[in-house]
Amino acid sequence: LQTIDRTNVWHPFTQMAEWVQQDQLIIESGKDNWLIDTEGNRYLDGISSLWTNVHGHCVPEIDNAVQEQLGKIAHTTMLGLANVPATELAKRLVDILPQGLTRVFYSDSGSTAVEVALKIAFQFQQQAEKGDPNRIKFISMQNSYHGDTIGSVAVGGMDLFHATYKHMLFQGEKVLSPYCYRCPFGKEKATCDHECFQHVEDVLSEHGSTAAAFVIEPLVQGAAGQIMHPEGYLAHVRELCTRHNVLLIADEVAVGFGKTGTMFACEQENITPDIICLAKGISAGYLPLAATVASEEIYNGFLGKHEEFKTFFHGHTYTGNPLACAAAIANLDYFENNNVMEKLQPKIAHLQNRLNAMQELEHVGEIRIRGIMTGIELVKDKGSKASFEAAAKIGHRVCMEARKYGVIIRNLGDVIILMPPLSISLSEIDLLCDATAKAISTVTE
Ligand code: PMP
Repeated sequence: LQTIDRTNVWHPFTQMAEWVQQDQLIIESGKDNWLIDTEGNRYLDGISSLWTNVHGHCVPEIDNAVQEQLGKIAHTTMLGLANVPATELAKRLVDILPQGLTRVFYSDSGSTAVEVALKIAFQFQQQAEKGDPNRIKFISMQNSYHGDTIGSVAVGGMDLFHATYKHMLFQGEKVLSPYCYRCPFGKEKATCDHECFQHVEDVLSEHGSTAAAFVIEPLVQGAAGQIMHPEGYLAHVRELCTRHNVLLIADEVAVGFGKTGTMFACEQENITPDIICLAKGISAGYLPLAATVASEEIYNGFLGKHEEFKTFFHGHTYTGNPLACAAAIANLDYFENNNVMEKLQPKIAHLQNRLNAMQELEHVGEIRIRGIMTGIELVKDKGSKASFEAAAKIGHRVCMEARKYGVIIRNLGDVIILMPPLSISLSEIDLLCDATAKAISTVTE
């Protein structure tokens, strides 16, 4: 076997500690829902790469679409020119997004999709006829994750990732996260009076008149450990934003493209945000692509009172890349031609059943599931909900143990994340759940 020297790669979000560094696999290829490493070992991809490969790996229809586009052109600037796939994709996205989102601005990662949304909202308030230049703050959620660029970090609400940079960030207001298992208001889900609904109302009453926008991950705060918001929360936030004239930015980077059981999470509460951010599943994991889609009213704001402001001051070199857009169109075709969302429903039911059984394990505190997005929160003691002292290490060890059973999963601290491709089969769900349960038992007993 050829030895691969990894010395020069600085891995993102990887602790430098030895206990993490030792364990990285080098993946050489993939097929369907499986990954194959350089030694020929096969692993079920239980996290769809990084929540991207919604149809698995090496999907012939998407491979062909990218190949075909390669034969035409690989890149052309969108600054002053257009290209065929970017133009077609914008139409296709507008057709399936919540009604009213009509103008597609391309970028190349989830972080930049959010960064762009923040800048659009800010510039709209500063310059549009319907804007208000006093609105300079952003309201966002504690426990939120919106990316790693400075703007997206500023609206993020996870100290673990963001505290280091606090002096670089603009200030905003944070709403306490409606994390029912560990309710910030000290309540139990079954008996609470939805104090979280009143709380967000209070934050908007106090800061609504100076806020440019409210940024939220709809339904599920993914990176913080799949924290699922109570029913009606998103619709409540939409209603409050409308009441206070605050723009609503829905960050669907993680939840979009089927993962919550509907194509977009906003559909489940029947809301249309003013701006939506898309990435990850948009190109089915093929090429870096993101889109920030705004309403007509916001776009019209940029037609401007003043000649010099008739522009949005943002332009990435690789924006609207034709290869990435071709992959994204093939991705949408795949959804349609294979009835992916219809076929997903029995899989969600099966996953839910299998996870219910896992709740019996001694150190499983809460299992959260929405669509196929799953978080299994481990605790040292179920009664008190006390966490393990070395929580992240325990979570990581569970993932390493699962690899022994041929399954790749991920941990966010002591929450074990399952986010398989939508193309996972029922028997693969069994393997995923069996391996996860065995790994949890082995590590925590
Ligand atoms: N927003 C959300 C909700 C995310 O989950 C992520 C990535 N995990 C991002 C933004 C950032 O996306 P990217 O890593 O592509 O920059």
